[in-house]
Amino acid sequence: MAKNEKANSFEMAKKQVDIAGKYLGLDSGTIEKLKNTKRELIVHFPVQMDDGNIKIFTGYRVQHNVARGPAKGGIRYHPNVDLDEVRALSMWMTWKSAVVNIPFGGAKGGVQCNPKEMSLHEIEHLTRRFTWEISLMLGPEQDIPAPDVYTNPQVMAWIMDTFSILKGYSVPGVVTGKPIELGGSLGRFEATGRGVVITSVEALKHLKMPVEGARVAIQGCGNVGGVAATHFDRMGAKVIAISDSQKGILCEKGLDVKKALEYKAKYKCFVCETKDETEITNQELLELKCDVLVPAAIENQITEKNAPRISAKIVAEGANGPTTPEADEILNDQGIFVVPDILANAGGVTVSYFEWVQNLQELIWSEEEVLDRLTRIMQKGFKEVLELSLSKKIPMRTAALALGIGRVAEASRLRGIYP
Ligand code: NAD
Repeated sequence: MAKNEKANSFEMAKKQVDIAGKYLGLDSGTIEKLKNTKRELIVHFPVQMDDGNIKIFTGYRVQHNVARGPAKGGIRYHPNVDLDEVRALSMWMTWKSAVVNIPFGGAKGGVQCNPKEMSLHEIEHLTRRFTWEISLMLGPEQDIPAPDVYTNPQVMAWIMDTFSILKGYSVPGVVTGKPIELGGSLGRFEATGRGVVITSVEALKHLKMPVEGARVAIQGCGNVGGVAATHFDRMGAKVIAISDSQKGILCEKGLDVKKALEYKAKYKCFVCETKDETEITNQELLELKCDVLVPAAIENQITEKNAPRISAKIVAEGANGPTTPEADEILNDQGIFVVPDILANAGGVTVSYFEWVQNLQELIWSEEEVLDRLTRIMQKGFKEVLELSLSKKIPMRTAALALGIGRVAEASRLRGIYP
């Protein structure tokens, strides 16, 4: 993705505040406050690489808003990470927590790096030094990271360990998405993908379409896309295509999802196994005729260029910011039902909240309990957004933004301005 396209993520996030702010009748001062982040830290730090050379990396932690609770948001390792991207992602975290009514604010972090070209040892060193650099912002009461693109439970374990060493005692509640052995919650790893499936099922029900046999195409097969594919498959839907950053595979009869993901894990790319399967590009995948399209990779994938050719009935946004505002209008005009990112992928922050609660209270919930609570919260979030969308005749995205931004604006109003 080109640099200038990424800078648009923050512009896009600010534009969304303008739209929802206008709809809610917020005053210009409040809108301005919500469009700005609260705290931003940029760090440049050295890591000794395996060949003995020292490399300098740039990392970011941004807290957008803490009116409703501690800042919460993932950490991303990707070559395209920059301040504007992290700002946008932190803002979306604020709205997302508010849409599902979780008592968190929004934050995000990232390091500009290419983890695919780094050894595990180098990633560990980068993680520990980055944690140290941003540790003044972190803590269970302040700011709690989680996994995002190209970070995982092991990275969270290193963050927890480094932060705990700095404190002199174990602080499991400083991160979520940890391994279960370190206080991670059962069901957290699957939470975002499951949330995408739960809200997609609600959307199918609303459109009176059956889940059984529904044709699903998924861009991205990481934590979100891979888990979503598995659960769509288990529910009887037909996953016809899935991709990674290089390419995808298509099978009109429905993929053997388990096998496809096993091959991807083994060979680091998708492999066509039968004559029914063909290779496709990510662009082709997005334009497939299907019932549910799940963009679950990165931002700015559905743009004004390809939006006129999107032929899904439902777009359930597993990724953050996959659709540009221009494309959004086109999808709307085409009557495509959009489950917006701040609702569709809120399952992650929801179970992160459960993990944090369990850590603070030293509790362990069963997977059934976690899934049951997750399902109820996601269904309630979907219902509230849908009702607002139908009663006010506004698109689902505007309804979700209005719900989330409205809650944050009200919390800010009640707290007032210090001094
Ligand atoms: P991941 O690193 O586990 O997987 C990312 C996937 O996207 C991989 O399959 C990768 O090959 C693919 N990908 C990367 N660049 C691509 C490109 N240019 N084109 C097509 N595919 C590409 O990351 P994840 O945790 O699954 O996150 C995916 C998206 O979901 C991100 O937008 C993230 O912010 C969002 N999200 C994640 C969580 C979570 O709990 N992990 C929660 C909410 C939202």
